[in-house]
Amino acid sequence: MQITALEIQKDIIKTLDAFDHLLYGFAYVGDFSSGKFKNTSYAITIGLPLSPTIVDEIISGPNQVYYDEYLNVNDKLDLITETLKNQINRQGYLAYAIPSSKRTDFVNIKGEFPHKVAAVRGGLGWIGKSSLLISKKYGPRIRISTVLTDIPFQTNGLLLKNYCGTCKRCVYACPAGAIAGNLWSEDLSREELIDVRKCDVWKINHYSQFQGHVCGICVAVCPHGMKKVLDQ
Ligand code: SF4
Ligand code: SF4
Repeated sequence: MQITALEIQKDIIKTLDAFDHLLYGFAYVGDFSSGKFKNTSYAITIGLPLSPTIVDEIISGPNQVYYDEYLNVNDKLDLITETLKNQINRQGYLAYAIPSSKRTDFVNIKGEFPHKVAAVRGGLGWIGKSSLLISKKYGPRIRISTVLTDIPFQTNGLLLKNYCGTCKRCVYACPAGAIAGNLWSEDLSREELIDVRKCDVWKINHYSQFQGHVCGICVAVCPHGMKKVLDQ
C-alpha cells in the first residue's frame, strides 16, 4: 500500500525532531516556485541557532570565530536538507535542497530561492527592519535553509506578528547605512527594507578577510536575539 503524504510528513517530522535546537515548519510557496522549481510548491523550512556568546562579540564587526560559526551552521543545515531530500526522493517525490548560503544571481544579489519566504510562511518568525528573519526563539541569531518538494504538506499557515515596533537599533547600528527603517509587511519589497548593494560593498571593502560574506552587526544588536540562552 502506498504511503500517504501525511504519513511522509510525519516521518519527516521524526527526522527533524532528532536534531537539537532545530526550528522547522511547512509552507506553501507555489507562488514563488518558478524555473526548475515550478513543480515544487511546498517547502520544509529549517533554522539552526548561532552560538549566542559568539554573536555577542560582533557588535562592532565580525571576527574569525563568528565566520567559522557561520560556515559551520551553514554546513549543518546543508547536511540536514540533503538528508530530507534523500528521504523524500526515496518515496518517489521531487525534492530540492536549497543551500543555506549560496548566491546564484550576482546581479540582483539573490540565491536560488528566498529562504525567508518559506520561513515566515512556515511560522518561524517575521522579517525585521534589517530584512533578516527574526525568529521568536533566537531572534535573528539563526541561519535558515529550505527543501522544496511536490508533497502536498499540511502547512503551518502562520504569519507571525511583526514585533519590531518602534525599534530602530539595526538602522542606527548599520555602518553602511543600508537599512531604510521601514516596517516589514508581505507586500513590501526587499529593496524597500535594505539596500543590498550598500551592505555588500561595505562587507567586501571592510571584511575582505571573510570574503565579504559576513558582517553580522545587525544580527548582534537586535533585542530579539539578546539573552536567548541555548541549553548546551
Ligand atoms: S550586515 Fe552589516 S552592513 Fe549589512 S545591513 Fe547588516 S549591519 Fe549593515
Ligand atoms: S533591531 Fe529592532 S528594528 Fe531591527 S530587526 Fe531587530 S527588532 Fe526589528
